[in-house]
Amino acid sequence: MPTQMQNAGSNSHERVAPSNRRMRRPGEPLSDAMERLRQTLSGDGGEETARAYQALRRAGNGMNVGELVAAVRAALGPEGLTTVIDAHAHLACYMCTAGVVVCHQCQGRGEIEQGRSCAHCDGLGVIRCGFCGGTGWADRASHPAELREAIVLQQAAHVRKTVGKLVEVLGSLTRAKARALPARQRVQLVARLLHTQARLADLAEADAVDPKTRGLMHRAAEKLDPPLELLRGGMRPDERHEEDDEATDAEAPSS
Ligand SMILES: [Zn+2]
Ligand SMILES: [Zn+2]
Repeated sequence: MPTQMQNAGSNSHERVAPSNRRMRRPGEPLSDAMERLRQTLSGDGGEETARAYQALRRAGNGMNVGELVAAVRAALGPEGLTTVIDAHAHLACYMCTAGVVVCHQCQGRGEIEQGRSCAHCDGLGVIRCGFCGGTGWADRASHPAELREAIVLQQAAHVRKTVGKLVEVLGSLTRAKARALPARQRVQLVARLLHTQARLADLAEADAVDPKTRGLMHRAAEKLDPPLELLRGGMRPDERHEEDDEATDAEAPSS
């Protein structure tokens, strides 16, 4: 029964849980663990809530996980259970910040010198984290199996909202505007686009996602390509002619 929990953190997030078994408190009453979980719900620590749920799971060792989820719902209400699911849905990868690492070749500028794109990061200034595949999320295998489907659906709902916002905000982005962005802001935007794309790709592969949603996810990921292209640093060979037009546009008075 507790195999998932023993795996949680041990296969990939070694820093966090060197051994869950050693931290286990045998015989801890379920009610105490439930109370500690309840206390985390009013805080803002998603990680704390996820850890408290995992402790509850250990306290309920031998219990059917379906019964455990029912016990949580009974004790903390459906909102409490949703908060627990949400806490897991937002657990972050420990190897990166939001799915990316800054490119060490260009220090995030996306270009090696004025107008010359960085080949290492393909002009983006950041590189997808190889550990989480760019999602910025904790390994899905580390989620409690009984919550996994609900976590995926929660992540899907969250990502679809993010895509909507991104498409809305970046709909008016032009190459000239992208180039005028302060470097830090550009990197943040690129990171957001990259991890949203990675999340969409990741979720599209999840079993809990139905074929219709899968199609939506793929199309949503494609919508983020054009703004991403505009945010690449330096000049790409096929852009050299367009650049003249853009410069003219940028100089035109805007109302
Ligand atoms: Zn680079
Ligand atoms: Zn990562």
